[in-house]
Amino acid sequence: MANKTFFVETYGCQMNKSRSEHIAQVMVQNGYHLIEDKKRADILLFNTCAVREHASEKAISNIQKTIKDLNKISRHPIIVIFGCMSQFLKNRLVQRVPGAQIVIGTSNIEQIPQYLEEYTRKKKKILDFNLPSTSQVFDERGYLRNSSQIFTFLPITYGCNNFCSYCVVPYTTGPQRSKPLLTILKEIEKIIQDGYQEIILLGQNVNSYGLDLGLKNGFEVLLQTIDQNFHDSSIWIRFLTSHPKDMRPSIVDIVKNSPLMTRYFHLPIQSGSDRILAAMNRGYTRDHYMGLVNYIRQTLPDSGIGTDIIIGFPGETERDFLDTLDIVQEAQFEQAYTYIYSSRSGTAAYQLPDQLPLAEKKKRLQLLNQTLSDIHQIKLKAWVGKRAKIMIDQIEGLNASGRTTDNQRIFLPNSNLFLGQVISVVVINTLKGKLYGELVLS
Ligand code: SAH
Ligand code: SF4
Repeated sequence: MANKTFFVETYGCQMNKSRSEHIAQVMVQNGYHLIEDKKRADILLFNTCAVREHASEKAISNIQKTIKDLNKISRHPIIVIFGCMSQFLKNRLVQRVPGAQIVIGTSNIEQIPQYLEEYTRKKKKILDFNLPSTSQVFDERGYLRNSSQIFTFLPITYGCNNFCSYCVVPYTTGPQRSKPLLTILKEIEKIIQDGYQEIILLGQNVNSYGLDLGLKNGFEVLLQTIDQNFHDSSIWIRFLTSHPKDMRPSIVDIVKNSPLMTRYFHLPIQSGSDRILAAMNRGYTRDHYMGLVNYIRQTLPDSGIGTDIIIGFPGETERDFLDTLDIVQEAQFEQAYTYIYSSRSGTAAYQLPDQLPLAEKKKRLQLLNQTLSDIHQIKLKAWVGKRAKIMIDQIEGLNASGRTTDNQRIFLPNSNLFLGQVISVVVINTLKGKLYGELVLS
């Protein structure tokens, strides 16, 4: 297979983006060449997501269309589909995309090069839907250095034990497996050597890091050890996602006392109604959630809080929805991702009665987004005149932008800056949901 080229298309979350970087590295180590042009590749890898049906369906039609379009111009690359959607749909996906030669779930993805060899020899479809075992972590640092990116993802846990009643992730990714602390430290060392300036620690519930290794408060231990070992570096450390059930004030305290840790917490609330939170099996109440928000705001007044919200969970009444609008006002989120509930077979909520009509879900989503956008506008206006430190992470011609440690993007048109530069700026105005700033020379 020497000299064969490949292209990777990624759907879904940051964990998937990180997984694609890892697979690209595994492929390169096995003699394949990564290219940017999908049409010229000998092998197409699709890394898929199963969280919501609509997005999954769109991904399937994209893959089908890609194959059809390529066949029309007499190109017949080997099609490999892997990740959560393959794990979730298994043979149903194989039937729907008959043009795929290799379809595997979330477990044996590091074997893709061997599977490609095998396919080339035998010309027989390869399917593998084994679930990851309780010990499987992808633990050596094997990622392609992406020179246009100053940040990189670093998974610290794989899988999830929480079984929120709407969610497929525990079924598609297996039980939580934490990466050993020493491995993470070695990976960080390598990341710094590679020249990255920001690391995003990833897990479905980073706050439960280490529980499966027998560590209590393992996430605090991890953050403190990172802080001690890399205190003198200028790396920025973020982490995603904090689960409100396991988030603890001691984590906020560590962030406050460490110059490396950025001031942003992604803390998905999902719903503002205690009744719905219980039905979702989230393991916390709105009071508990607001306790965390208040602690963060008091301890780190300049921090940002982001969230995820699901609209239209089965049985969500008008009252429940108003509770969600209410907590959105109370928490004053800096960022929010909102989703319409998608019923996924195999999850506990799939069987629940009172699934809401799509039109009602859409109406509520629109109202929620309007409320969030109003809050956002006020927050953006309050930025005007403020000074902040940003790290430049995007450059297009003379236009640069970067993020503050609390994850606010600020644009600098007509500037002469370079990627990774940390600079002081003053915000001069806000336009169409964006902040614009100027360099401050101090
Ligand atoms: N582990 C993270 C979230 C991972 S999935 C957490 O618990 O917060 C990312 C987001 O997708 C979730 O926060 C949720 O808002 C959304 N999501 C998950 N399953 C969904 C479903 N069936 N329908 C709609 N949104 C869903
Ligand atoms: Fe899904 Fe809940 Fe696990 Fe997040 S914590 S991945 S929402 S089951």
